[in-house]
Amino acid sequence: MRSIAVMNQKGGVGKTTSTVNLAAALAAAGKKVCVIDLDPQAHASLHLGVSVRDGQPSVYDVLTGEAMFPEVRQQIDTNLWLLPAHLDLAAAEVELASEVGREVILRDKLAQDDQQFDYIIADCPPSLGVLTINALTMVREVFLPLQPHFLALHGLSKLLKTIEIVSKRLNKNLRLSGVLFCMYDSGTRLAAEVSSDVTAFFQGDQALGIAANAKAFETRIRRNIRLAEAPSFGQSIFQYAPQSPGADDYRNLAAEVLKMAVAEMPQLRRAA
Ligand code: ADP
Ligand code: MG
Repeated sequence: MRSIAVMNQKGGVGKTTSTVNLAAALAAAGKKVCVIDLDPQAHASLHLGVSVRDGQPSVYDVLTGEAMFPEVRQQIDTNLWLLPAHLDLAAAEVELASEVGREVILRDKLAQDDQQFDYIIADCPPSLGVLTINALTMVREVFLPLQPHFLALHGLSKLLKTIEIVSKRLNKNLRLSGVLFCMYDSGTRLAAEVSSDVTAFFQGDQALGIAANAKAFETRIRRNIRLAEAPSFGQSIFQYAPQSPGADDYRNLAAEVLKMAVAEMPQLRRAA
């Protein structure tokens, strides 16, 4: 099993769009995929056509109550499952503030889950709080979506530091494995400059050990209006506009993710 947190403390960089459409593409390629929506805004759930009614169990109940993964999980499509979020997840941060072991609740509950998946993909909220930390203790890989504008590198050191601390103290297998450019305006000088800056950053000294094997995906997700329209229909890009450039890009990304050599991920090789 591969487990991935799609993380960036900035909002609006393409985390949710990438979580949902990568998950859908991997499911279409025959992999069993479970999405975990960790954002109180519940955008990934809505994008997958799920809106949790009051009183219905959600990720909130997994984090703050007795609920286990199977009670909360919903099947969305062939090979595709979701642990949905509800707005009440926003309260979890405060409710868990004094809870011992709050950082590893998801990890422990996942370990008790009998259902086997090929991919678990967690959509993180735009913060580095307890919800994101729960994702980081549960997974082995972080995918980092970046929008190639001039502030793309801003905040990256803090983000990497967070991954590093979690990796040292709570999850020694954690690595940043993929950097994904989203809303890429191909042909513009800015996009080209920023993407080469980012590549240089990850090759330089500032990138910590946890990013040593990070790969910038060759697939860039181009700006495509269909990707922005699909969520309001509760559909992935493959249902909403299967012929669009957005669908092509996420299909290509999935192919790259499937191909990622085990050698690029020593932590996976050790576990195998
Ligand atoms: P995040 O989860 O990081 O906050 P989203 O995935 O929700 O980011 O994307 C932010 C906004 O940009 C959303 O309205 C989304 O529909 C839109 N969007 C994301 N990727 C693209 C793209 N490649 N082209 C056009 N719009 C996009
Ligand atoms: Mg989001």
